[in-house]
Amino acid sequence: MTGTVKAVDGISIKIMPGQTYSLVGESGCGKTTTSRMVLMADRPTEGSIYFDNRPASVQAVFQDPWSSLNPRMRVDQIISEPLVTHRSLSRAEVRSQVQELLQVVGLHPFHAERYPHEFSGGQRQRIAIARALSTRPKLIVLDEPVSALDVSIRAQILNLLKELQSTYNLSYLLIAHNLATVRYMSHTVGVMYLGKIVEESPPAELFTNAQHPYTRALISASLPAHPRQRREEIVLAGEVPSPLNPPGGCTFHPRCPFVMERCSVDIPLLKAYSSGHMTACHLYEDGVPVAG
Ligand code: SF4
Repeated sequence: MTGTVKAVDGISIKIMPGQTYSLVGESGCGKTTTSRMVLMADRPTEGSIYFDNRPASVQAVFQDPWSSLNPRMRVDQIISEPLVTHRSLSRAEVRSQVQELLQVVGLHPFHAERYPHEFSGGQRQRIAIARALSTRPKLIVLDEPVSALDVSIRAQILNLLKELQSTYNLSYLLIAHNLATVRYMSHTVGVMYLGKIVEESPPAELFTNAQHPYTRALISASLPAHPRQRREEIVLAGEVPSPLNPPGGCTFHPRCPFVMERCSVDIPLLKAYSSGHMTACHLYEDGVPVAG
C-alpha cells in the first residue's frame, strides 16, 4: 500500500525559555517526527519551524548512550566535534571548553582522553549532554533521555538536566513514554494521537484533571501516583489506526469509549478548556462538558 502519511498535522508548540515542553503518546503518534523537524532532520511539507531564528542553536540527547556515541572517538573528540563545526576556536580553547563541559555534567576532566566503552550508561549520557551543551544551544531535544538507563541512575540524570536548565535558561522538548518522568520534568505537556495534539496542559492539571478520553486512558494505564489515589479505568480497544488511512472526524473515534454520532464526521478542534488547558474533543464546548 502506498500513500501520503501525515505523520504530524497542524501542530503548534510554544516552548518558553527555561521551560520543558513534553510530548507523550503511543508509538507512531508523531512525537519522533515532530522532534526530528525541530532538529531540522525532517522538513515539514507545509508550515514553518522557528526557534530563535537560528536552527544551529538546537541540539539533542538521544535515548541510547551506547549507540549515540562513536566508539572510535575519545570523549574530548566527541564533545568537541560540534564545537569545531560551529565555532572557530584554537586547540587550547577547545581543550579548556571540553574540560569545563565535563565538570558541568559532573565528570572529572581526566575522563577526556578515554573512550565511551570505559564508562557506565549514566556516565555516557552525561557525555552526550556535554556534547549537546557544547554549542551553547537555547533548545535541546531530549528523546527518551533516561529510558535506557538503570532505574537507580535515572533520577540523577533528570536532576542534572533540571540543574542545567536553570543555570543556562535552557528550553527542552522532551519525548518520553514514562509519565512519571514527564510529570517531574515538564512545564507543559502535549498529548499526541495520530499526528495531532489532542490535549495540552501544565502537568499538575493534566494528571489530576485530564479531559480527553485518550489522555485519560494513557494515565489510567500508568501507575497511580499515590496508592490511595482514585483513578478511573479506561482501557483502549484495538490498535492505533494506520496513518496512511486515518479515520474521519475525530481520529480517536474507533477506540473511544465515549464516541458519539458526530465524532466520526466532525473534526474536533483544540480549544481552551480552562486557563492553559486545551483539549480537542466534542465532549466539551468552550470549556464546558456537553450534557449527554
Ligand atoms: Fe471520543 Fe468523540 Fe471526544 Fe473523539 S471527539 S475523543 S471520539 S468523544
